[in-house]
Amino acid sequence: MKILVVNCGSSSLKYQLIDMDDESVMAKGLVDRIGIDDSVLTHSPSGKDKVEFRQDIPDHTVAIKMVFDALTDKNHGVIADLNEINGVGHRYVNGGVLFPESVLIDDKVIADMETTFPMAPLHNPAHVAGIRACAKVMPGVPMVSVFDTSFHTSTMPAKAYTYGIDYKVAEKYSVRRYGAHGTSHKFVAQRTAELLGKPIEETKIITCHLGNGSSITAVDGGKCIDTSMGLTPLAGVLMGTRCGDIDASVVTYLQTQGAVKPEDMETFLNKKSGFLGVSGVSSDLRNVEEAAAEGNEHAKISMEVFYYGVQKYIGAYAVALGGVDAIAFTAGIGENSILARERILEGLGVLGVEIDKEANNCRGVEKLITTPNSKIKAFIVPTNEELAIARDTMAIINK
Ligand code: ADP
Repeated sequence: MKILVVNCGSSSLKYQLIDMDDESVMAKGLVDRIGIDDSVLTHSPSGKDKVEFRQDIPDHTVAIKMVFDALTDKNHGVIADLNEINGVGHRYVNGGVLFPESVLIDDKVIADMETTFPMAPLHNPAHVAGIRACAKVMPGVPMVSVFDTSFHTSTMPAKAYTYGIDYKVAEKYSVRRYGAHGTSHKFVAQRTAELLGKPIEETKIITCHLGNGSSITAVDGGKCIDTSMGLTPLAGVLMGTRCGDIDASVVTYLQTQGAVKPEDMETFLNKKSGFLGVSGVSSDLRNVEEAAAEGNEHAKISMEVFYYGVQKYIGAYAVALGGVDAIAFTAGIGENSILARERILEGLGVLGVEIDKEANNCRGVEKLITTPNSKIKAFIVPTNEELAIARDTMAIINK
C-alpha cells in the first residue's frame, strides 16, 4: 500500500510518498511560494538527485497537480500511475475538540473543519484548501486527516486544559489548552516505550519536542495528561520566534504604553520574540550557540531561559505523572543540540538523572544518553510525523 502524506501551509505544501510495505520513503518534496512569485517545486525521489520544477503556482490545486506530475514523471517519478496511490493523509494543526482522533474525510468532516478556522487561522484554512485540491485532482481516493491536537484533547483532563477565566466566556469562545505537535509526541512516546522494553500502558514518559516550535508533554500509560502549548502554539517554553509562557499583563501593558500596537501584538509575540527577540541574533539555535560561544551575553541568556523553561516543565510533569521512567528528546534541537540536552539534563540531578556525556555526543540518532545509574532514562528519539500520519491513514482506510 502506498500513502501520500500532505502537509499544506498557506503558501507551501510538503509531501512524502511512503511505501507502507516496508515504511520506506519513495519520494518527498516541497512546493514553495504558492500564490506568490518565484513558485517552485523541489522533488526528491529516493535514491536519485533532487530536481526543481518552476512555474506559476497560483493555488493549492495547481500545486497538487504538479506534485502528481512529479511523482509520475518519466525521469524523476517513482510510480507509473496515480492509481498506485491508495490513500492520502493530511496533517491538520488544530482540530479543536471536534476531532479527538484521525478521521476519514467526507463532506461533513470538511464542514466541521471550517468551524475550526479561528483556532489556527494561518494553518487550518490552508489544510482544507489542500484537501479540496486533492479531492479535485484524484477523486475517489480515500483521504484521512490527522490532527496535531488529537493526542492531547482526547485524554487531557479538565484540570490541565482549563484556564482560570470566566467559564461562560471560555465555553462560548472555546478557550482552553489544546496543545500541538501531538502526532510527534505520540510517535516518540510509543518508540520510547519500545526502547524501555515495556508495554506503553506501564510507562510514564516526558516527551520534549524541541525545534523551531517547542512543546513538552507528560504521557501516562500512553495518554497525554498535560502539555506545554495552549490555546495556540505560543505557550510553553521559549521558542525560535515565539515568547512562550508570559504574564498576560505584558500584552495589555505594552499596548497601553504604546510600545506595540494591538494589531502588531500577534506578530510581536509570535515572530519577533523567542531566541530571536531575547538574543537579538537569530531564531536559529545554531547561530545563537555560536554567538554565545563568542561571548554575546544576550545569546547566553536566551539559551539559559530556554534550558530553564524545559527543566521547569520536566519538574512539573514529574509531579503530575507521579514518577518518570524516561525523558525523550526529539525534533531539530532535541535531536541535534548536544549542548541543549547536556545543560537541560544536568539541571535534573534532584530527580536522579545522570547524563552520559559521551553517549550524548551525537546528533540525529536514536540513543540512550544517561548512565546505568540514572534513576530516569533519557533518550534521543528522532521523530517522524509523516510516518505517523501514514500509519494512521493506512489503519483507517483498512478499517
Ligand atoms: P520546525 O519546528 O520548524 O520543524 P526543527 O524541528 O527543524 O523545526 O528545528 C529547528 C531548530 O533546530 C533550529 O533552532 C535549529 O537551530 C535547531 N538545530 C538544528 N540542528 C542543530 C544543531 N546541530 N545544533 C543546534 N541546534 C540545531
